[in-house]
Amino acid sequence: MVMAKVNSVCGPLDTDDMGFTLMHEHIMVGAAGAYVDYPAFFGPDPMGRVVEGLRKSKEGGVDTIVDATTLDLGRDIHLLYEASRQTGVNIIATTGWWLEIPRFFTGLSADQLADVFLREIEHGISGTTIKAGILKAAHDIDGVTPMGEIMLRAVARAHLKSGIPIMLHSYSPGRVGVQQLAVLKDEGVNLNRVKMDHSNDTMDVEYLVSLMEEGCYLGLDRYPGMNVSPLSRTKTMKALIDLGYADRLCPSHDGIILRILVANPAVTEEERLLKNPHGYLFIKNVVFPQLREMGVSEPIIQDLCVKGPKKFFEG
Ligand SMILES: [Zn+2]
Repeated sequence: MVMAKVNSVCGPLDTDDMGFTLMHEHIMVGAAGAYVDYPAFFGPDPMGRVVEGLRKSKEGGVDTIVDATTLDLGRDIHLLYEASRQTGVNIIATTGWWLEIPRFFTGLSADQLADVFLREIEHGISGTTIKAGILKAAHDIDGVTPMGEIMLRAVARAHLKSGIPIMLHSYSPGRVGVQQLAVLKDEGVNLNRVKMDHSNDTMDVEYLVSLMEEGCYLGLDRYPGMNVSPLSRTKTMKALIDLGYADRLCPSHDGIILRILVANPAVTEEERLLKNPHGYLFIKNVVFPQLREMGVSEPIIQDLCVKGPKKFFEG
């Protein structure tokens, strides 16, 4: 089945028009409701900073962004809509859930949760007609926990009913993807509709190839990232390209424009800027030259954030 349209926050987007697509970013990260109720936490002129960040990205050639912020990470659909409208960057919004599963969810069934996710895909988010374009589930160092499994099954069922694809926050150093794919297979999901994110937090090429052999795409979506250097991440990408998997890779940054500004952050805004002055252009400005240096051909580089994302959404 070729699904030629994807839900963007400004309406249906033809997959041919997605262009250069970053498959895992966050315009804003906070907590559910925080952006509306406690705007002071986000610092001065938040919308102005978002627009500036996205305009720079657009001028640098970024056409489309998947915003991976779920409700528990503070998703604000009005912010995403305004950001897209004012900058011309296509934004695809996410339904599903990250790791902050509230206590009051205990006892909810996978089907009940699937229904609320499905509503955001078919009808709209937060009382708008803006529809989610991708589903997300998340499992980290603890693996697929009992509540995490219910969420994953809910995401699988909403996917099976809607046809929109799935992104998985994963913990690749612990090979958590194996557990996640087992649950999705049990639900009858075709794994070529699944993207395993944060896959470049490991350099275990054998593990990464085994995931793609199951059918799934890889989100190489931490740049510059922590614990693994950007150059090591790029070496892993090069190894996967050499093995013939370029079309299954989705490089991205997991980059945040707006975050809650705490008094004593482990990493200050200045340090963040020093580490990555390129924002959403780090891949174009730093990673692509690294790949050129390593001998990857220009056509493959130019297709890297284009072909994989398009194929993934078209299924
Ligand atoms: Zn993320």
